[in-house]
Amino acid sequence: MKEQVLGRRIKVRNPRTGQLDYEFTAVGKLALTAAIDLLRENQPKWREAGVKHRIEVIKRWQQAMLSERGAIVEALQQDTGRLMLAHQEFDSLHRSIDRWCSQAPLILSPYKQVSVAMPSVEIHGESSPYQVLGAISPWNFPLLLSFIDVIPALLAGCSVFIKPSEITPRFAVSIARSIAATNDLADILTIMPGDGLTGQALIELVDIVAFTGSVSTGKKVATSAAQQFIPAYLELGGKDPAVVLEGADLERATTAILRASIAATGQACQSLERIYVSHNDHDKFIKLLTNKANAVKLTKDDPNTGILGPLIFTRQADIIQQHLDDAVQKGAIIYCGGYIEDEEGAKWIAPTVLGNVDHSMAIMTEETFGPIMPVMAFETTAAAIALANNSSYGLSAAVFGKDDESALAAAKQINAGGISINDAGLTTMIFETEKSAFGYSGMGPSRNGTSGLTRFLRQKSIYLNHGDVLPISLFSEQPTS
Ligand code: NAD
Repeated sequence: MKEQVLGRRIKVRNPRTGQLDYEFTAVGKLALTAAIDLLRENQPKWREAGVKHRIEVIKRWQQAMLSERGAIVEALQQDTGRLMLAHQEFDSLHRSIDRWCSQAPLILSPYKQVSVAMPSVEIHGESSPYQVLGAISPWNFPLLLSFIDVIPALLAGCSVFIKPSEITPRFAVSIARSIAATNDLADILTIMPGDGLTGQALIELVDIVAFTGSVSTGKKVATSAAQQFIPAYLELGGKDPAVVLEGADLERATTAILRASIAATGQACQSLERIYVSHNDHDKFIKLLTNKANAVKLTKDDPNTGILGPLIFTRQADIIQQHLDDAVQKGAIIYCGGYIEDEEGAKWIAPTVLGNVDHSMAIMTEETFGPIMPVMAFETTAAAIALANNSSYGLSAAVFGKDDESALAAAKQINAGGISINDAGLTTMIFETEKSAFGYSGMGPSRNGTSGLTRFLRQKSIYLNHGDVLPISLFSEQPTS
């Protein structure tokens, strides 16, 4: 790839104004290669320094980031059009640093055990981190998703190169300053902006990839990584279902489903994007959900009031409109919201409730990534589970039932990695246990729970035999009496 292709100027749009008001230069191939060479050179020292040292450095960086909080949050606000969520991203990253720093020593402690198969053998368990991780992130939570896998990887002993999304890159400047201000960290952690070509070039240089983004890019990343013979952990899109079984508390269900469908204007991989409701409760459910959705205000007129910010990415706004048009053309009914508002290039959409939908519509099968709630009636629990599973995705789901048992029984049959019962979106708040992505929603060990750290390590077993060595007669073909 030529230097001028990678090292070009890229313009960035402000979603609240619709204006291209920021520019950056994508890192060039020479600079990218030099950065990775340096990370590779410095990684053994980082690994050998031990986890206690790594925690101490990361904690110092946390302090350096706090000094940059204003600039980091402001950059996130400009790129996403969201005020409070930008603060929440910052705070979530800090909580994840605390969480991983408290867990890492235990996860990383070497162990010894006596072999059951050969009691004279003692096994020493050790681990060896991959050397350089390439982390590639999307635009919907620019800060959080740039670091979600990076903190455990650093603690594991990897060095890391982060390439944030070209749609929301502004925070990288102040984050890079905080890294530069932290002794020892700048040697093993680099963040540089770029686009898809940069991401592609990065995969050719690193030892392991942690990618968060769309299914279509994820497939390309998996292909490139396979050609390099390196692991690629893929965290991709979703089309999360909510199943509301007969007799469920509809007040509770509509509040939770609304929240989990429209949070971050629906621009979240774990948004609820399709809702199945028992036919007996369907009309009441639609009425309640529509009333609650109608009460949700956009932040269009005043960024400090309201709940829903602008759509960040115009191409995604086009997809939302296409899905709505396709659904209406095939007979869907819109109860509220239903169209993209264009304010001088800024794109907005109110919470949208649709009925009379089915799986012939893209809005029920493809990722929409907006505050859209299509509601479909079902006759039996078995039919609801079949509909929920009729998807190429399997990130997470929600089930509401009149009691825990019936909801749990249904949840166990749904093909998704994280399922909330009588609530929704709990996977966005709880990270302590492992959960796999089903179908096209991802590949690789869970980023949550212990495997979120151990997946950056190669495990070693070292065998010490304190007994006699086995004799060659072990392989004798002569029958023993
Ligand atoms: P995207 O796939 O367009 O881009 C993601 C990143 O990949 C960007 O940094 C981009 O520059 C880079 N990229 C593009 N082409 C590349 C290539 N050929 N090789 C390497 N890198 C390349 O995704 P997006 O639109 O930024 O993000 C939205 C998607 O991310 C949605 O599908 C959403 O569901 C998904 N997502 C998933 C999770 C999860 O945890 N599963 C979390 C957030 C978002």
